Amino acid sequence: PREAATLADVVRLQAKARGDQIAFEFEGRCTSFAALDRHTNQVAHALIATGLKPGQRIAYLGKNSDAYFELLLGATKAGVVMTPINWRLADPEVVYIVNDCKAVLLFVGHGYVDEARRLRDQFTSVSTIITTEGDAPDWPDYTAWRNAQPSSDPGIALQESAVAIQLYTSGTTGHPKGAMLSHGNLLALVRANGTEPPEWYRWSSDDVSLVAMPIFHIGGSGWGVLGVFHGARGVIAREFEPHKVLDLFEQHGITKLFMVPAAMQFVVRQPRTRQMDFSRLRYMMYGASPIPAALLKECINVFKCGFVQMYGMTETTGTIVALAPEDHDVESEKIRSAGKALPGVELAILDPDGNRLPPRMIGEIATRSASNMIGYWNLPEATARAIDGDNWLRTGDAGYLDEDGFLYIHDRIKDMIISGGENIYPAEVESALCDHPDVAEAAVIGIPDDLWGETVKAMVVLKPGRELSAHDLIAFAHQRIAKFKTPRSIDFLPELPRNGSGKILRRELRAPYWVGKDRQVN
Ligand code: ATP
Ligand code: MG
Repeated sequence: PREAATLADVVRLQAKARGDQIAFEFEGRCTSFAALDRHTNQVAHALIATGLKPGQRIAYLGKNSDAYFELLLGATKAGVVMTPINWRLADPEVVYIVNDCKAVLLFVGHGYVDEARRLRDQFTSVSTIITTEGDAPDWPDYTAWRNAQPSSDPGIALQESAVAIQLYTSGTTGHPKGAMLSHGNLLALVRANGTEPPEWYRWSSDDVSLVAMPIFHIGGSGWGVLGVFHGARGVIAREFEPHKVLDLFEQHGITKLFMVPAAMQFVVRQPRTRQMDFSRLRYMMYGASPIPAALLKECINVFKCGFVQMYGMTETTGTIVALAPEDHDVESEKIRSAGKALPGVELAILDPDGNRLPPRMIGEIATRSASNMIGYWNLPEATARAIDGDNWLRTGDAGYLDEDGFLYIHDRIKDMIISGGENIYPAEVESALCDHPDVAEAAVIGIPDDLWGETVKAMVVLKPGRELSAHDLIAFAHQRIAKFKTPRSIDFLPELPRNGSGKILRRELRAPYWVGKDRQVN
């Protein structure tokens, strides 16, 4: 519904257009669009009855569930903002987010009651904790809390520019930051700037989407909401369980899903004891971190559906660049790119002074579109650094554009190494190391050096059973890349530190070397 101005409008419109159709299916429980409309009305009434005012926050700590989406959409009918919390975070980080967003109500999913009890006294703004699956007899439960309210529309008018959700970034480069995303930001995903979008971008109400990525990331919440925008059926997976995903494809006839490459790897390498039917699967969307070429080839061979790579970030409400199915030719240079800007999205590559760079020159990726966040909650300085007066958002990612407008991503600016005044991008060095047949994976960091500022150091994981000396690997790398880019030292590790999305945490590898010192790149 391109004419809708808010998520609340979308729910109302879908209830009118296809009330009997299933909006969400969660562990056997189906919620029709008509029921979703009623339930979200009840949620809004309950929030208003609690005294919540438009712009105030509620938080959710738990795995994916239908209750979460009812709360997110219901809150928008009261102008209240949902903040989902990453359940993988440590106690102090959870406390930080709940207090940072000043959540008045905290909803806890199955399995998180003990954590909420343990932290209860540290939450400074929370008046009530509500369970979503009845796990705490002394706390109210969602279903009863909701059902005590009328199912009529509370009729609260809201601007398109109002905040719809506050999503924290993944914390790959530092502390998670609360990105405020408006209704307009989310709706930009379907409006396509008023253009006629390509086939892979369009949905029909016959689509069945799998919501398997965690809802505390845009790839979970944004993907789930996208299905509602299109009147499709959303099958919600409580969590990503590789052995179940293949069965879900078959059982539910999933037509579309989004996965991070780390998840794709689990799914495609999952043992298949029988011939499985993936013929209903139309598009597999993937992104959030670089994908190894071998993995992509493997997935193309197994699933035989359309593949769409997506590039974006929490701050851009997810996807702003996509590699279309027809550009997934494994022999072409384009397959190494993240694709082209979506309709209505502008891209620029900037030098450190903010000047635009020509094609094939690496610089910081900047973007401008209706998907750019309003700003970071409570962080005016970080917001000012991220978004300039002309609404260009600096992504913090390094990359270049080719002559045809395809974007090639090269690491984070923060991971760039400056050695003797030369800029070195870890990805280039890592790929030279990974060319060695004994190397499974590699991460490259800059460590302090009195003479050069920084020098290149590599952390390498070898393939099982292989042996290789640092000396030999350095010699191998030097045949492929310039001397100043070649690692001075290499440590062999059993594995690399990653976050939940499978992103390598270079800052963790770097930290021990930089105690008490400032890095130039920041
Ligand atoms: P933080 O901002 O807290 O450090 P984060 O940047 O990892 O964490 P997200 O907003 O979840 O948090 O991730 C966005 C980032 O993911 C992008 O800036 C980019 O570095 C990376 N990314 C997204 N899509 C792709 C892709 N297709 N290929 C490579 N990297 C990608
Ligand atoms: Mg980021």
